[in-house]
Amino acid sequence: MKKNKILMAAAELFPLVKVGGLGDVIGSLPDALTKLNLDINVIIPFYGVIDKNKFKIKLVKKRISIEIDNKKTYFDLYQTKVPKSKVKIFLIKHKLFNFKKIYLGGRKYLKSGKYTREIKDIERFTFFSKAVAEVIKKLNWNIDLLHCHDWHTALLPTFLDEYYIKYKDFKNIKTLFTIHNLANQGISGLDILDYAGLDHKMTPALMEDYYDLDGDKIDAMKIGILSADYINTVSPNYAQEILTKEYGEGLEIYLQRRKKHLRGIVNGIDYKFFNPQKDKFIKNKYTVKNYKKAKNNNKKYLQKEYNLPIQDVPLFGLVTRLVKQKGLDILLPALENILIKQKIQLVVLGTGQKKYEEAFIKLTNKYPNKVSSKITFNAEIAQRIYAGTDFFLMPSRFEPCGLGQMIAMRYGSIPIVRSTGGLKDTVKNNKTGLVFNKYKKQELEKILLKSIKLYNKRDKIIKNCMLTNFSWENSAQQYLKLYNKII
Ligand code: ADP
Repeated sequence: MKKNKILMAAAELFPLVKVGGLGDVIGSLPDALTKLNLDINVIIPFYGVIDKNKFKIKLVKKRISIEIDNKKTYFDLYQTKVPKSKVKIFLIKHKLFNFKKIYLGGRKYLKSGKYTREIKDIERFTFFSKAVAEVIKKLNWNIDLLHCHDWHTALLPTFLDEYYIKYKDFKNIKTLFTIHNLANQGISGLDILDYAGLDHKMTPALMEDYYDLDGDKIDAMKIGILSADYINTVSPNYAQEILTKEYGEGLEIYLQRRKKHLRGIVNGIDYKFFNPQKDKFIKNKYTVKNYKKAKNNNKKYLQKEYNLPIQDVPLFGLVTRLVKQKGLDILLPALENILIKQKIQLVVLGTGQKKYEEAFIKLTNKYPNKVSSKITFNAEIAQRIYAGTDFFLMPSRFEPCGLGQMIAMRYGSIPIVRSTGGLKDTVKNNKTGLVFNKYKKQELEKILLKSIKLYNKRDKIIKNCMLTNFSWENSAQQYLKLYNKII
């Protein structure tokens, strides 16, 4: 039987290059899919930060021509594989990506609360998207499905439609667009179309965007939603939520229009990497059969690492980007009340918006025996928090999928989450965690008190958590089903 050939295009891929959850997904989903008899290829930009020697990256084809900004330029195509994986990884090398950073500009917040990257980044990923289409054409890749991820590659279906429909190999290429972060939309001025060489009036999605925004802006995310054959996001519940004004980030009307072609598939986590039995970053390894003593020792080790007194009290963990999305506006006041009266401890690991970083430092100074914060990004400490805490906090305002709660469960740290997005799909109240509904500090406070009461009889929930399966195999099966439907 012929294998279906899939090409995924994305901006990040772990372990080559990663900023956030997108990199994790592109680093592990393709591998799970190859095990389902699919021919999976991934293409990313060859950033200056990627270590060419470490990953044994080899040149495939030099000087592939492309027209961008009304000029002819050339890029090179490279290839690699990661150890123990059959996935072919391709990289596009061009001076636009030679920098030592993935994204050049920071986030630029718009009045609506949406954000975009600085314009230069939008040009870079427009170039990347067009280059991917050129590679398919010039190397005669017989692709059955092009799977695009987030705004960076959202123009790809349009490139296929508008430019390449006349080439026979392009006619049968179907497209899937996965939304990992709806708030990050890649908004730029109309001149991006001239830069890309796209015709304003030829593609319905472009025209729609043009008229909606009074002709002065292009929203890449919206074009992806309107132009791909199918769309999915990273949990079934979030796929429903984004149809509403509350979660739709201004794109709900377009998502509603595409509802028939919108799906939700929950992410998995890398079970090889997130494995308490083999994790080299934690002191005492364990499984569901022998976690008690090991977790207790890991807890003591963590208390020491965080300069907290070694005590047998409920220990809470928070590992996150310190941004509004993560529910910090209700967490901070709820904690204040709890910390005054209750014997608990909290360890924090995160970076982000200054006001939240400062708030956690302040809390640490106010309760030095109860709270300790490390304002940094450190994957090794993160593992020790998952392994050493009793409870893991994720009171998010919204959460497309969320990985933290799944990692916490795998390590037997009971998640405390708000019933939103992927958190609702993955955590079952009183069975694999504690769940609250309304985005209110009182509700969170109540659930924190409940967790303190649960502390001495938490074993059943820990076991349920550790026995829940969040490996990529489940999710890959669902992607396979969706691919088959589209192709
Ligand atoms: P998001 O993608 O919105 O940031 P997720 O829960 O989906 O949230 O994924 C967050 C991932 O990043 C988790 O693996 C978490 O452990 C990790 N992480 C977040 N902040 C830090 C940090 N400061 N140090 C180490 N790892 C972090």
